[in-house]
This record gives sequence, structure tokens and C-alpha cells, in this order.
Amino acid sequence: MTIYRATVLDTPQDPFVGGTLRSEQDGGLLVRDGVITARGSFADIQRDNPNEPVEHLDGGLLLPGFVDTHVHYPQVRAIGGLGMPLLNWLERCALPEEARLADPAYAEGTADDFVRSLVHAGTTSALVFGAHFVPAVDALFTRAASTGLRITTGLVLSDRILRDDLLTTTDAAIAGSHELAKRWNGTGRARYAVTPRFSLSCSEDMMAASGQLMQEIPDAWFTSHVNENIAEVAQVEQLFGTSYVGSYERHGLLGRRSVLAHNVHAKDDELAMLARTETGVAHCPTSNAALGSGLFPLKQHLEHGIRVAFGTDVGGGTGFSMFKEGLQGYFMQQLQGPDGAPLTPAHLLYLATSAGAAMLQREEVGDFSVGKRFDAVWLRGADDSALQVNLRNALDIDNALAKAFALGSDDAVGGVWIDGNRVKG
Ligand SMILES: [Zn+2]
Repeated sequence: MTIYRATVLDTPQDPFVGGTLRSEQDGGLLVRDGVITARGSFADIQRDNPNEPVEHLDGGLLLPGFVDTHVHYPQVRAIGGLGMPLLNWLERCALPEEARLADPAYAEGTADDFVRSLVHAGTTSALVFGAHFVPAVDALFTRAASTGLRITTGLVLSDRILRDDLLTTTDAAIAGSHELAKRWNGTGRARYAVTPRFSLSCSEDMMAASGQLMQEIPDAWFTSHVNENIAEVAQVEQLFGTSYVGSYERHGLLGRRSVLAHNVHAKDDELAMLARTETGVAHCPTSNAALGSGLFPLKQHLEHGIRVAFGTDVGGGTGFSMFKEGLQGYFMQQLQGPDGAPLTPAHLLYLATSAGAAMLQREEVGDFSVGKRFDAVWLRGADDSALQVNLRNALDIDNALAKAFALGSDDAVGGVWIDGNRVKG
């Protein structure tokens, strides 16, 4: 057993419906075999467990491990292609890199870079957009398993519009998805996600094949993109003769194990459809800003009761740090004035941790309640960094968390734990 002594923060109750930030200024978490068995003030925890070793995590903040609900594995080396809208960015930056993963050796190196980058940023659970090639997705599952990451991912499917070397057939899509799901769905912490790239690059037949896979793979997850960019939305509506959300609904692809990324340009009937089917939405603030996609209508999502959590959308997004996503998410709502949803630091932490854990049905993590598995991030900057200066001078615990989002970064993450195992620091 280990007692972790730190300033502990989490959001076990949804702040959008009355929950508040929970904190222990000089807190103690007792962890046995990866499970939190007691929490409280450090003094109380140590008094009750006087012989247990103590890990002192001074001068920073201990937060639940981050949950990234939308991030592209093949794009880890393609971050930072600024200056283009979505469809140009895909063609010039993202898709050439995605095509390189046809080479299994290249894919293995990319999988290694990707998993290291996630862990470095403090992400311990993720719904990952996979690659277009079976061996490349296998490499990702293998690498994630070696770290213990709680990963959900799958083979990316497309049969039109993209460059030829990223296209497949429905038969190959079905066979490749089954092969990967058989090996990995439910193996350790891995889960399988049926992943058509987006309706724009999938024929009705490929969408139907995705629906078939959802029926055939036990407890399969589903993920894709929706309503990201105005030009893209117009093309999808023309090709399918339905709304963008409707193009998924038609093939039975919405539901409690479905997560669609972006939904920046959502119409009312689409929001109602997402709410009715309990489909989750991954909100990716830095990507939406970098690609000029638009301002996410969080208020409308909340009014419809749609579940929302943060995703980084690497490499459209500008990095793996949930601190940066949180800050950008806050900016995006501020910029919408009365149409925006005002966000407190507790909302940002919730969207980066508990909301994602609930959306991905990783109930074993998401906060530091007794009985949860110990996935954790310790934010601790260099002594002379503005982050540490500000944490030392925080007005109160809420203000300290605000400073963490304003000044935190992946490089200021001093320790990361998955299931009680230290994987960074
Ligand atoms: Zn994406």
C-alpha cells in the first residue's frame, strides 16, 4: 500500500447540474493494488495507517488521469499544420502521414510516439481514432497494452473521396475489423471501436457495413466525425440527402456506446437525435480554433441534455495537453458572449476527466472516490516557472485550478499513474 500526500482535486458530481469541486488541501489517498481504499486529510490517513510508505507530492496539484475522447494516432507527427481549413489540411498534412502507416515498421514507431505522448500529457484513458491498416492498428493496441492505457480504438474505414491508398472495400473492412476485434476487444483494458472516417468518405454500403459490424462485435463502440466544417456539412447533406447526424442514424450507428467528434454546426433536429439516442459528443477546442471550424455550441448541447467531454483531436488539435484544451474551451465559450456557456475551473476539470470516463463507460476511473482505480496526474512545474509562482500565490483552491488550466502543460506534468503504476516521473 502507498499513501499519496498531495493537494487533491476531483469532480465526482457533474458541475453542470450542481456539482462542485472536491478538494483536500493537504490530502491523503491510500492505494492498495491499484485501488483507492481510503481518502481524507493526510493527517487522518497517516494516523490510521502509520506503517504505510508515503509518497510526498508537494507543491503541485494531483488530478484524476485525463480522458481524451477524440485523438488520432497516425497524426502524432503531423501536429502544427496551421493556416488551412479542414479539407485542405486533411489533404496536405494529415492524409499523407496516415498513408505512411501502411509500412508496419513506420506504424510501430508512430504507435510508440503516440502512446508516449499521451502518457507524457497525463492522459490515462482514450478513445483513439486508429489507422487505415490492420497491422498499424494492431501495433497501437500492442503498444497501449504495454503501458496499461485504457484504450478504445479500431480500424478506420473509407471507400471514397480520400487518396486511393487509404481506401478499402466493404469486404476488407468487415474482415479486418473482425480480425482486430477478435484479438483485442475486451483483452486487458482494450476495447474495439467501429470507425468509419466520416460519412463524407464512406458510401452507403460502407456505412451499412459499419452497422453490421456494430451488430456482430460484442459491445462494440462507435466513433466518427460530425458537423465540423461548413463546406464538409454541405457535401455530406448533398451526398446522403439527409442531415449529417442522420447519415449515421440511418445505419443504426448512434447510441450509448457512440461518440461523434466536433458537432460545431449542429441543427436542432440533430441535437434532438443525439439526445434521444444518448450519443456522446467529443468537443475539441484547439482543433476547432486552429482549423477555423467554429465556436462549439455547448449551451445548446447542455440544453438538450447531450453528454459532452473534451478531446484533443491531435493532429488537427495543437497537442495532447488537456490543460490547453480546457483553456481553449473556456476561451471559446467566453467569445460567444450571452450565447456561450460560462465555464468555471471545476467545469474544465470535469470535461477533462469525469465526463470522459462516464462517456466511455470507464466507471472505474474519473475521480478519486474510494473504490476507484488510481489513475492520476501530478501537475508540478519547475520552481521558477510562472505556473509554480502562481500556484504558490493562489487565492484559494478554485483559483489554483484556474491557474493550472491557464499555465499548465504536458511538460509540467511531474507524475502519471495508471491503475496504481507510475508510468511517468
Ligand atoms: Zn478528428
